[in-house]
Parts: sequence; C-alpha cells; structure tokens
Amino acid sequence: MKNILVLFMYFVLIGFHYGFNNKSINKEKKKVIVSKIQKPTFTFIFDDGLTSDVNVVNKFKEYGFKCGFAIIINTLANDRIVEYLEYQKQGFEILSHSITHPYFQGNKEISLSQAEYEFKNSLNTLTIWGFDVKGFVTPSSQMDDKYLPLLEKYYKYAYTVYYGQPQNPPVGHVTSRELHILKRLNLEGKDTDTMIMAEIDECITQNGILHFYAHKYPDNLTEARLVAILEKLKPLSESGVIDVLTPYEAIQKYYKHVDMH
Ligand SMILES: [Zn+2]
Repeated sequence: MKNILVLFMYFVLIGFHYGFNNKSINKEKKKVIVSKIQKPTFTFIFDDGLTSDVNVVNKFKEYGFKCGFAIIINTLANDRIVEYLEYQKQGFEILSHSITHPYFQGNKEISLSQAEYEFKNSLNTLTIWGFDVKGFVTPSSQMDDKYLPLLEKYYKYAYTVYYGQPQNPPVGHVTSRELHILKRLNLEGKDTDTMIMAEIDECITQNGILHFYAHKYPDNLTEARLVAILEKLKPLSESGVIDVLTPYEAIQKYYKHVDMH
C-alpha cells in the first residue's frame, strides 16, 4: 500500500512538472531525447523549387540517395507540380518553403497573422496537390522565436536557425535537439571543399547529424563538389557506418524517442 502511495505521488509530481513546463514555449525545456544507438546521419535539402532540381534528382539517384526539396508555392509553375509528385513517388521529400518567401526576422518581418497564413496555406496547398509534408524551411533561414508556437501547430519539424558555412575547426553536429529550431549547413560557399569534408569527418566522430542545403545545382555548389561529397558518403552508407536519408526519415531515425504524431 505504501509503495502504491509513493508511486502515486511520483506520478503527481511528474504530471505537475510537465504541466508546468508546457505552459511556456521554451526551447531548452522542449529538447527531445537522442537515441543512444544513432548513427552519424546526413541529409540534403535544395531550396526554392528551381528547375535545376532535376539535376539533383539524377545525381542522387546515381548514388542511391534521396534528398528533400523546399518548395515556394507562389513561384512554382503549375506544370512542375507533377514533376515533384514524381520525385515524391521515387522517395524524395517535399518540404514547405512558404507561400511568398517573406522575412520571419528583422525589419521586414511579417505579422503573426501573415505568418500563420504562410504556414497553414502552404501546407494545405501542398497537401491538396498530393504532397505529404512534415517539414518547413524558413525563407532566408532565420525565424524569430515569436512565430514558433504557430509554426509548431502545422509542422512536425522545421529549420528556423541560420548556421551557414562550414567552420574551422569543424563543428560536425550542427543541429539542435529541438525539432523546430534545426539548423542547416550551406554547401555553396567559396573554397569550402576541404572544410565540408572536415565537417563530415567530425560528424562521424561525434555520431552527429548534419543537414546540408543548397539552391541551384550545378552552380555555386559545383558538380565536382557534390560528387566528391556523395563519393565520400556512398561507401560509408553501404557499409552501414552512416545514414544518408531524407530530412524526415533522418529525424525520425536519429531522434528515436521523439513523439512524432
Ligand atoms: Zn529560399
């Protein structure tokens, strides 16, 4: 009887703890638990729904990898919807990149109600078109915290923090553990081939997760650079040392304890 009482008190305290924490949107308190058995994980996203995405698809297919595409509703030509539906069918992922590509931080930032329109209507439109969308990519990378509660209503995960170029020394594990404040590493910087490779090595050392992004390909992200990256990742992926996955697959697998419903 005493044990049951102690157990009861324990659950009351746990309930109080979580109830209390949930009252505020606080990044630190919303951290999820990272599985102890995760592998170093790599994901790639190409932004803006550019016509060069076909080159990305072909290159990734050569290596047996899949990536994500972040689509802007207003700039996507109608006849390209079927193109992305075909990519989705082949295992590529489509993310929302808003309706109009507005600013979510700084002096041009939009209002909360405009933001909700961007979150909700881009998701609804993509869903009506036939896409299974879980993630959001912030236009111009950086989002003020005030939008996060709205964003979380519509998306299971989101990139809302600018990380940018590979660092020296490499960081190797650039993401947050909170699924709505993820960061991405840009592949388009000048003279960064060696630094990108160092980031990949460091990610493997740390059992980390790295989310890469670019826009037009080939362009500032050259064919030589992307091929070098994929050539490096391919044997590691085949031997089971690392995972190269679409963003949502990566997040589900890497953060095994996340409640994703
Ligand atoms: Zn963009």
